[in-house]
Amino acid sequence: MSSIDSPLRVSIVAPCYNEEDVIEEFARRALATGRVVAAGSFELVLVDDGSRDATWSKIEHMSRENPEIVGVRLMRNHGHELASTAGIASSRGARVLLIDADLQDPPELLGDMMAIMDRGADVVYGQRGARKGESWMKLTTSAIFYRLLRWLASVDIPSDTGDFRLMTRRVAELLLSMPERDRFLRGMISWIGGRQVPIIYERDQRHAGTTKYSYSKLLRLALDAITGFSARPLRIASWAGVVTAFIALCLLGYTFYSFEAGWAVTGWSSTMVAITVFSAVQLITLGILGEYIGRLVQQSKGRPLYMVDRVVRDGEEVPLVDCPEMRSGNEHQFRSRDPFLP
Ligand code: UDP
Ligand code: MG
Repeated sequence: MSSIDSPLRVSIVAPCYNEEDVIEEFARRALATGRVVAAGSFELVLVDDGSRDATWSKIEHMSRENPEIVGVRLMRNHGHELASTAGIASSRGARVLLIDADLQDPPELLGDMMAIMDRGADVVYGQRGARKGESWMKLTTSAIFYRLLRWLASVDIPSDTGDFRLMTRRVAELLLSMPERDRFLRGMISWIGGRQVPIIYERDQRHAGTTKYSYSKLLRLALDAITGFSARPLRIASWAGVVTAFIALCLLGYTFYSFEAGWAVTGWSSTMVAITVFSAVQLITLGILGEYIGRLVQQSKGRPLYMVDRVVRDGEEVPLVDCPEMRSGNEHQFRSRDPFLP
């Protein structure tokens, strides 16, 4: 399916988790944009990431009135990155716009993004000029994170970008062919390369509702980004081992010397310092190893990335056997070659 000669010019893909307060307004603005910018040749793929509120019933209801809406409901909450992946896998347009459903990213920017892509870009990514309504805590942690990631990672991941971006079908398919479970989409898209062009925009406040990203989810995303794009922490851990081993050797010499000199009973403080420092280094090193090994174990199970519960297209529920969304990410996991190569 989904080829470059798709009948649809663009798919707008939005993951939604407990977004009952904004989903209708979002759909209204996205549909209005699609009708103007893509002259109606578009689809709006709304992925319900296992919401517990009225999000899915609202999607179903809207899809009956607007045949452009494709609704995909996941069987449980899989998180932003996997919900977005499910949406991209269900999309058919020649281009894919990935956008949050909370209206922080204006769907109206699609027109400008399409124009930039017409001039030959593979990816047009939104870069935040101003960010309204974000706490200084979030701004500071995110600034530190991006600096840390830039230092650690081997790919250049532009700062102040979210997942808001327009990509070609080819980039979307390459992204889907990447089998990792722990997905840091903006990093993976950067990794693909090609012509990636920023578009500066002002990020609005959330239209309604509250953030669905707790600090623990953010931390997990940060760790996914670091482990997914860099082996440097492992190297730092080895260096920490080398340095502490050297200190330990000096301490050993000092210990023997003290024993010979007869002041062996004193030295409680140095013993405590040695124990705490060395155990801390060991635990940190084990922790770093654990972050990588845990992900390796999960990945090696080869489970589907996500599971689809229901799909509505053209206002009607599609039997899952007939529909490509049933792929549940499994098929993609082993399709590692570039689908556009002959
Ligand atoms: N989201 C999701 N699954 C989750 C968490 C978030 O699909 O487990 C969606 C959410 O509905 C929104 C987007 O991901 O469309 C970004 O989430 P949010 O706006 O809460 O994050 P923030 O902008 O505060 O970082
Ligand atoms: Mg948001």
